[in-house]
Amino acid sequence: MKGRKLLMIPGPIEFEPDVLQAMSIATNSHVAPDFIEIFGKSLELMRAVWKSPKGQPFIISGTGTLAMDMAAANLIELGDRVLVISTGYFGKRFKDILDRYGANTTILEAPIGEVVSLDAIEKELKQGQYKFLTITHVDTSTGILVDPKPIAHLAKKYNVLSILDGVCSVAGEELKQDEWELDVVLTASQKAIGVPPGLALLMASEKAMQVWENRKTPVSNYYADWNNWLPIMRAYEERRPSYFGTPAVNLIVALETSLKIICKEGIDQRVKRHQNLAKSFRAGIASLNLEILPKTNTIAANTLSAVYYPEGINGTSLSATMVESNVIIAGGLLPEIKPSYFRIGHMGSVSSNDLIAVLSALERALIELGHPIESGKSLQAFQNGLLKIN
Ligand code: PMP
Repeated sequence: MKGRKLLMIPGPIEFEPDVLQAMSIATNSHVAPDFIEIFGKSLELMRAVWKSPKGQPFIISGTGTLAMDMAAANLIELGDRVLVISTGYFGKRFKDILDRYGANTTILEAPIGEVVSLDAIEKELKQGQYKFLTITHVDTSTGILVDPKPIAHLAKKYNVLSILDGVCSVAGEELKQDEWELDVVLTASQKAIGVPPGLALLMASEKAMQVWENRKTPVSNYYADWNNWLPIMRAYEERRPSYFGTPAVNLIVALETSLKIICKEGIDQRVKRHQNLAKSFRAGIASLNLEILPKTNTIAANTLSAVYYPEGINGTSLSATMVESNVIIAGGLLPEIKPSYFRIGHMGSVSSNDLIAVLSALERALIELGHPIESGKSLQAFQNGLLKIN
């Protein structure tokens, strides 16, 4: 399709044609047997993607922020101590949400481009009487990837529940919720899950559900209260009609389609594809002497890359020039350094073809704007990266 734009921002992403087609079918009743089957199947498939056979899944209309809000509203009681481990903008957002529900939060903020050390986390947990901790798996503002496994392990050691913001990671980065003993893992539809914006998705462990059941005070958010939603999720899984708030019927049909695509590829294979493409893409970026925000490749996300503009390049001009090549990228998000970097999403249906188009458009834009690079260099590095992996 001539002039087709490639949306390479870190969400919403390019969606599979089958997913978009699924959205466009005539809207069904939310209590029709075939829709009940689709909803029930989606809940079951979520367990496979999260690797959480024991988890309680929730599918609610809303964005990723609602999923964060729902975790906080249902689990936090006034004065609960929460350790927020932050690697960017979305870590701070979690603190704001938790504070709204009366949590007593402490935030451990990593310097820009780094992660918080396990030692610093353990030191805090040792003295803190914490009830929860939060981790941002991939902070979309910095492109930093945090390994949740050792942090969840520390959480268990100190009897603290762990909540993972997986909005920019679930179905793109390695995740084993049950094996790693993460208590809540939440995401949104528009990222690596591969469904247009509008669904908040959350998986709660048995322990998290127990903590919620044993609350001494009522949940202060009406819409997000699991008392309203748990019976609905159970009903759909048992293939019974039910109602609390009208579900986003078309989005859920699209969700089932996308989850099936994910499971057909195989979640491990999908994660590997993200890792291989991201690694080769970073090689392409490095070959142009461009620097990424993460200080090392081991903490660089596989779902997006955050890259500093080279000196003398105006960000707005770079994006505008790339749009002329039909490639849409995102600007910076972290307030401290917002004008100095850009972000490229590479998750979900992303292929090597998409990333060749991005690198090609990036090179041409840099050359047009007067930045001295050798044409074709990043494409060669990307290609070599893929050849080495395959
Ligand atoms: N957490 C992370 C890591 C995110 O990337 C985002 C969205 N970019 C959110 C939370 C919030 O999600 P939403 O925009 O869907 O509310």
